[in-house]
Amino acid sequence: PETSPVNSPDRSVLLDHVSIRFGNFTAVDNANLKINSGEFFSFLGPSGCGKTTLLRCISGFSDPTEGRVLIGAKDMKGVGPNKRPTALIFQHLALFPLMSVADNIAFPLEVRGVSKKERRRKAEELLDMIALPGIGDKKVSELSGGQKQRVAIARALAVQPDILLLDEPLSALDLKLRQHMRTELRAIQQQVGVTFIYITHDQGEALTMSDRVAVMSKGVIEQVGAPDQIYNRPRSSFVASFVGENNALKGVVKRQSEDMAALETPMGTFEARVGGGRKYKPGDEALLFVRPEQLVPGQAENAFQATLSRQEFEGATNHVFARAGDTELRVSMVNAGLAGSVGSKGDTLSLGFAPMNATILPVGQIASEA
Ligand code: ATP
Repeated sequence: PETSPVNSPDRSVLLDHVSIRFGNFTAVDNANLKINSGEFFSFLGPSGCGKTTLLRCISGFSDPTEGRVLIGAKDMKGVGPNKRPTALIFQHLALFPLMSVADNIAFPLEVRGVSKKERRRKAEELLDMIALPGIGDKKVSELSGGQKQRVAIARALAVQPDILLLDEPLSALDLKLRQHMRTELRAIQQQVGVTFIYITHDQGEALTMSDRVAVMSKGVIEQVGAPDQIYNRPRSSFVASFVGENNALKGVVKRQSEDMAALETPMGTFEARVGGGRKYKPGDEALLFVRPEQLVPGQAENAFQATLSRQEFEGATNHVFARAGDTELRVSMVNAGLAGSVGSKGDTLSLGFAPMNATILPVGQIASEA
């Protein structure tokens, strides 16, 4: 039969042409997208791009100036934060340090008048889920940073929200723990099937955990897509330069045929894929983006020569900086160990790149200059 299972609620979020203004400043500009039921969805962008403002609007702490927010296909207009099927986790966890772990987790249930026995049962169940069984009687102040983080997640899930909103929850943790928690968060999300909406300025977090990512700049959603699409098929110069490392070469379009074009740059004329389905006329200015790992020694296509200026050794990868005319390029080379050598300062490198692995985009905002 065509009917969906009774116990699979609609946990989608629709942002229907949402704009949020403060006076005449536009913090979120016409956000229009659907987050699917059970999806791990991230908003990624630099500080001040409007991520938190958008999250507050989904959780009901503020209203859109224009447009609508729908959760589970229901219009949330006039529905307060406590009446929405959402829960929120911040960087600062707001756990009660002197209360036991179990009491912290069950606190939202106590507020709702759930019996003590049932609260204890629920807390035990959630502790199992976050892989910390048997620590219910410990005080929060006795836990490590990562354990506290997981307790905060358990507490947020205690009220069985359909949507969990996470506002940079890992940013207070050290690097190792942060990386470990990425895996944990993703595993918990898969297990509970709750829609996670995660906001971060950390592209590594967004790319590793998410089903899809929305990249934001200055209130505008620049692109929505799966992590590999965002990385391999950027649609704007902001996305190309904000997500991962990229070399940008400015030039003039010579010709375009369908989704490939030739760009004349001071380093030579190069063939590359046209990003974002754009159409160029000969003579239009554009930027060619090619990632450091796509510049390959000895590659015959789009070949050019550059002079090695310096290198940074980072174990598995050598980050090589090379000059070609006025352009400094980043080249990443896999460390070939004692069997291979990148060369030394002043050496000439013959590099090239596959046309499919470089993107031509309109001249626009570059993230490092933002
Ligand atoms: P961060 O990561 O630093 O928190 P963000 O991407 O979450 O950044 P927001 O906090 O959403 O950014 O802020 C977006 C813009 O809206 C900022 O320029 C901010 O100054 C502005 N803004 C946010 N709230 C208000 C408000 N209540 N009144 C006026 N301006 C505001």
